Amino acid sequence: MLSGARIMISEYPNSKELEREIKELKNLIEELVQEDWNLKKQLEERLKDLEEALIDEKYGIKATMLLGKYRHNNGYDSEVLLYVNNIEDCTGKDPVKTMYLMGQVLLHEYFHSFYYHVGVGSRDRINCVEEPMAEYGSLVVLDSVVSSGLPISTEASKTLAYTYNKVKRKQKCKGYIAAYGFGAYLYDNHRKDYRELIAEYANVSRLLDAHGRRTLEYKYMVYPSYPDSHFEKFTYDKLRCLLATGIKSAKGIKTLTKKVSKVAPVITHTSATGGSKGSIAEKKLCQFALEVFRFLKNKGLLGYLESFVTKKRNPELRTLTAPGVFKLVGILNDGSRISRSSDWFMSETFNIGSDTYYLSTQWSEVNTNTHLHFDDLKNMIGHIYPKKFDIRKKDDMFIMIEL
Ligand SMILES: [Zn+2]
Repeated sequence: MLSGARIMISEYPNSKELEREIKELKNLIEELVQEDWNLKKQLEERLKDLEEALIDEKYGIKATMLLGKYRHNNGYDSEVLLYVNNIEDCTGKDPVKTMYLMGQVLLHEYFHSFYYHVGVGSRDRINCVEEPMAEYGSLVVLDSVVSSGLPISTEASKTLAYTYNKVKRKQKCKGYIAAYGFGAYLYDNHRKDYRELIAEYANVSRLLDAHGRRTLEYKYMVYPSYPDSHFEKFTYDKLRCLLATGIKSAKGIKTLTKKVSKVAPVITHTSATGGSKGSIAEKKLCQFALEVFRFLKNKGLLGYLESFVTKKRNPELRTLTAPGVFKLVGILNDGSRISRSSDWFMSETFNIGSDTYYLSTQWSEVNTNTHLHFDDLKNMIGHIYPKKFDIRKKDDMFIMIEL
């Protein structure tokens, strides 16, 4: 990077999204019952902040320096970036402090990567939940090193002290930065049970509904400003409540879905509005998988799959494999099994070369023994057609885009 170059990031979403948030928060406040008077007051403060931000945002003045970034691209590459110039600016170019902060920022980004890879389902990360969890993760790792008693623990202790204060100070900031500050609260109060909390979040991070009631109740406690100290525990309870919803979804609670009209260029599915969303119903995942295959067939691209089809010992089952990238068992099968359990496979056939294949109907966003993981389909498409297609999930909608 050029010396003096600065990467800035907006502390708020764009004005359109901000307007949507204001509406969302107004609705949330309206829905509160009389007894929630204190909570209402807290949320009204957030509303005021958002409305002020909307005015500022239009002039583009609310921005902060980006210290690091984790980026995951279409399932075939990912990277962690550290913005060294920005980090130096934060530490007043003190080389020792720069080293401390770089270490913590790196850990923070690794936690994004960890949450990305461990979770089930598709990824739709929610800043106000993910960022404090990344800060928290970085602090508890440093804390573990400190208590190791090894020679490195002295340095780790200084790193922890320095960076903890940096995180803690974010509680005084506005915008997304305030939510980061909640990482310091989690560290202060949940240093001992971090394994459970981190595992819980990692487990459900991909299933959270960005606009679900429980997400909003937590989100607007830590964003765009930090809650009063006696509301911190309340905020923590909201977080646990949110994570518990995700776990329910992970266990396979079905949600109402309906198909909407196709959006160019390929495929969209969305759930019905309202109700508790979390994971997309299996039926819709199957439908999406089928449409992906139909699309490839119509484009004459199905043949590219051929080199990924191998015969297993059981000749009935064919396996799609690409070593180290993905493994799909039974995604396509020959017809011999159809007679036994026709519901397991689509009735529509796909011909690749001289063989006939049936697409599995067993798709899931969570890990099960019998189902194919939906991410595997996405990874497969990303691997076979690198930089040609991207499958994205936004809210409860899948879109396959021709790049
Ligand atoms: Zn982050």
